This record gives sequence, structure tokens and C-alpha cells, in this order.
Amino acid sequence: MSVLITGIGELTTNTEVSGDALVVDGDRVAWVGDSGSAPAADERVDVEGRAVLPGWVDSHTHLVFAGDRTAEFGARMAGKPYTAGGIAVTVNATRAASDEELAAVVRKHVAEALRQGTTFVETKTGYGLNVADEVRSARIAAEHADEVTFLGAHLVPPGADADEYVDLVRGEMLDAVAPLVRWADVFCEKGAFDYDQSKAVLVAAQQKGLGLRVHGNQLGEGPGVRLAVELGAASVDHCTYLSTEDVDALASSDTVATLLPACDLSTRQSLPPARALLDAGATVALASNCNPGSSYTSSMAFCVTTAVLQMRMTVEEAVWAATAGGAQALRRDDVGVIRPGARADLHVLDAPSITHLAYRPGVPLTHSVWRQGQRAI
Ligand SMILES: [Zn+2]
Repeated sequence: MSVLITGIGELTTNTEVSGDALVVDGDRVAWVGDSGSAPAADERVDVEGRAVLPGWVDSHTHLVFAGDRTAEFGARMAGKPYTAGGIAVTVNATRAASDEELAAVVRKHVAEALRQGTTFVETKTGYGLNVADEVRSARIAAEHADEVTFLGAHLVPPGADADEYVDLVRGEMLDAVAPLVRWADVFCEKGAFDYDQSKAVLVAAQQKGLGLRVHGNQLGEGPGVRLAVELGAASVDHCTYLSTEDVDALASSDTVATLLPACDLSTRQSLPPARALLDAGATVALASNCNPGSSYTSSMAFCVTTAVLQMRMTVEEAVWAATAGGAQALRRDDVGVIRPGARADLHVLDAPSITHLAYRPGVPLTHSVWRQGQRAI
């Protein structure tokens, strides 16, 4: 089944192709161009001057969880500082939940994101922190998300010895989880894992054929960015506190700097230095970091709006970072772009241009969403 979409007021493709019409055939984009030269299609949809862009690519979420951290959030807003230790609360609730309860949470949030234009979601393990619970987290994630990351090294479980736990993560746990995931990630931060521990986990994962990602430089400057660049990680995520050396290292590498502004706002940190990264030539992605502790939002539009209004990114840079940038952070060229052959993931705004995403902050602008060639919203 093919569908010709016409009447596109502004088409953002993130590629060389342009036009005011496109054809979706099956789950792929088949053609992009001017409506006057459009090929025949089985159906025709007129979007009446609305802006069309690729669906958001959310390259960083933690959706396999149970429990609630409303009280912790409230306390934080009343002045209590954020620490990595809050993760343990979610670990206890996640271990106690049934498979069906966990799957329902993932499904709910993927659906919530889809309603807001997110058509591609990465999610992570990391609230199991033992072999059995990390394996089932990976299995449930793989059933509902597009990409899955092993984050056994999210936190040392309370009461465990850090070095013994690192040996478990890079040994038995990695062996059990690796067949279910494409990526491995480490929380390289004070209160989580130091440079040597993080490196030990990532090197073992690399030897297993997994791609690498790093949580780093969230709560202060530290070795996360340096480690990510050294090991050729696809992405280093947070990047809230960067030294000049970190910015330069990212600019001269293929490692994407994935910024998570909703997390920085929700933990009352500074916002990341997006302008310095972009001006130096680094590749920047934006993602939600949707999780129950430090960033409980699935709204990529909120991240884009924040990036423009408060991080001095242009609308075009922010939209690119939340689509093609996310795809690059996941080393994919078939999503986050609109071109013949790409996955037909389209976000139609109830607005004539992407500028409205920042010009009308907080207004729900998603008109319709196509995912893998199907009208989903
Ligand atoms: Zn995260």
C-alpha cells in the first residue's frame, strides 16, 4: 500500500532531498519531491500546509522500572540535593514487580511518547542489578523498544562490594544479557563507577561485540567523556559539566554528545553547554532520559523547546539533534531522516513550521504521527 502525502507547508528531511510532497510505500519512504511531479499512489493525504519532520528519535530512556519517586522529586524541589543513590529505590520496586507489570510500564511510556511524535525509542536495563533481573529487563525492553542497552553498571547495589559487583557485571551478567542487547552503558560518575571500573565493564562489552555508550559528566566534571572518546563509544550522555578538553575531545571524535536537558532541570543542575559543543564542531543529540527518578518526561518537544529557549541552540539545530542526532547516537541512518529508503516515521505538526516548537512553548503541537508507514496517531 502506497500513500502520497501532499500539502506539506514545510518539510524537514535532514538530508539533501526537499519538496512539498512524499510517498510512503510499505514501511519506507519511497519518494520525496514537488507535488507537481509526484508518482501515482494508492491513497492521498493532504496535510493542509502543516510542517512535517522525521519522528523524534529518543536515544536515551530508562523505561523498565516499577515504583514511584514522587516524594523524592518533591523533596528535591524543596531543596534536597540529587544523588545517584535514589536509583536503589527503583531497583527494589523493579525486582519486586512481575514481568507483566514491567512490560505494562514500558508499553505505556512508549505509547505516551508516540502520541507526542516519538517514533523510535532506545531503552536500558539498569534497575535489576542482578543477573536474573537484568536479563528479564533486557528481554522485556527488547519486546517494546527499538534499541536496547545493557546498564548493569548503573549503580553498585546497596551492600555489595564495588569491585566484586564490577566483576559480576563484566562476567556472568554480561554473558547472560549480551545476546538480548546491542549496546552496553556505564554510569561513570562520583557515587556510581569510577574510570577504571567503567572501563573494565566497557572493554568486556566491546569484546562481546556490543556498541558502547556512557553516562558521564552529569553531576560534575569527571572522566566520563574522556573514557567514551578513548573507547570510541557511540555516545556520551548528560555532558552537563564539561572542561575545554572534554569539548575539544568530543569535537575531534565520532562520539555524539547526547544532552538531556529535562534531567538537568528536574535535578536543578545547570543546563549543558550546547553552544560550546556545536561551535567546536561536536555532534549533539537531544534525548528525554525518561526515568522515574531524575527526568520523568517522555516529551522530546519539551527538550527541543528548552534547548532553543535556554541552551541557545537554533530551532533547526535542536530539531536535528532530536531526530538525526539521536539516530547518529545510535549509529543508524534509516531513522531521523526523510529520504527514499528511510523508515517512514513522520511527525506532522499542527503548525506551519518547526519554529513553532519553541515559539509556542508547552503547546501540544503533534497533529499526526506515522510509524513504519502506518498512521499511528
Ligand atoms: Zn540515563
